[in-house]
Amino acid sequence: MKEITNSLNKKIYYIVAWTVIAIMISGLLIDNPRFGEFGVVYISHSILVLILSVSLLLYPKNGTGFLRLTIISVASVYFYTLFLSYPETSSTYVFLCFIPALSILYFDSKLFYFSLLLNGISIVIVYGYILLMDGMQYPFIEEDPIGNFLNFVASQIIVYFIFHLTNGRIKKQQLYYEQIQHSERLKTTGQLAAAVAHEIRNPLTVVKGFLQLFEHDPSFSDDRKGQFTLMIDELNTAEQVISQFLSVAKPDKENVTENVNVKVVLQSVTDLLYSYGLLHDNRIELKVTENCTISANTIEFKQLLINIIKNAIEASNIGDQVLVTAGREEDSVVIQVIDHGQGMSESQVASLGTPFYSLKSKGTGLGMMVCFNIVEKFKGTIDFQSSIGHGTTVTIRFPSSTPS
Ligand code: ADP
Ligand code: MG
Repeated sequence: MKEITNSLNKKIYYIVAWTVIAIMISGLLIDNPRFGEFGVVYISHSILVLILSVSLLLYPKNGTGFLRLTIISVASVYFYTLFLSYPETSSTYVFLCFIPALSILYFDSKLFYFSLLLNGISIVIVYGYILLMDGMQYPFIEEDPIGNFLNFVASQIIVYFIFHLTNGRIKKQQLYYEQIQHSERLKTTGQLAAAVAHEIRNPLTVVKGFLQLFEHDPSFSDDRKGQFTLMIDELNTAEQVISQFLSVAKPDKENVTENVNVKVVLQSVTDLLYSYGLLHDNRIELKVTENCTISANTIEFKQLLINIIKNAIEASNIGDQVLVTAGREEDSVVIQVIDHGQGMSESQVASLGTPFYSLKSKGTGLGMMVCFNIVEKFKGTIDFQSSIGHGTTVTIRFPSSTPS
């Protein structure tokens, strides 16, 4: 329960924990029918109160899964002990019904199912004991065993339902939080890029200009000129990195949003990359089932597709085919880029979009960051299905700009 680390919540937790401990101790001391006997029942009751109190107080300092399991298990044993030791106090039956609800507080699904199962088994054993062995100590159960059992089952269903709804809501919030973190990361890199890239671009252009001059200067030997060419190549790479970074940082107003014909753009991108694919004997096959249009900027949309198809070609083995498909699904345009190349693990997929994340010796690790940015800008989604050694399917969805 991370929430406990917050100081206000910590205070509330301790107030609740101390109140619970006080109530448990009152149960031991005030008007307890076994008080003074010091028999097995009273001693076990006292030991359970002690273990439960210590675990509750230790939890915020050392909130491990083991301690959670201990608290839930000891609490279950404690409530069953109360029920079996004090048959005259019939209200303890209510506690048995709500045992699994305790683990909802810890937002731990495994613990909840464990507790629910344990409670189900325990209640069956307790009913067996009461109905077969007990001599009318629990008249309310013996007079109406089925009614009481059904009420117990109903309470477990209600508790399960509360758990299910709460858990679903928490998971949704977590996902939302991760998405916000992701877009924050993109925003920060964008701002940083804008500041740095401009400063670096100008000196680079000047140096490159001089090198280009020297390259054609007859007073330099051919060896030297070869070195200049190498230097210009490296500067070109640096420029490429900068322009990719700048494309993330560019303010929106520079790029107009227009109706983009997906088929036309895909055709021009695959034509452009055709010779790049042939380098490794990879053919790009294009299948567009319908004419579809989206609302985006043509240049950026092209950039997105080039990055993704290039990655697919680079991941493919020699001779493999890369399939690009496009079609409509309800109000969306769905584009898929499918390769049968090296694939990625789950953690590699999770790292996509992080600036400079690249597994290639000559990669910039900026392509995916640019892609995520473009997809987000035009209200699309991008999804990766990948398995190591089998290939990757990248699915991009954009809202269709023509009604179906
Ligand atoms: P770069 O291509 O410059 O390395 P990207 O941001 O385009 O940078 O890609 C980041 C990394 O993601 C790549 O280095 C590669 O390891 C992995 N990757 C991207 N697309 C694929 C794919 N289709 N198959 C396998 N790995 C991929
Ligand atoms: Mg790339």
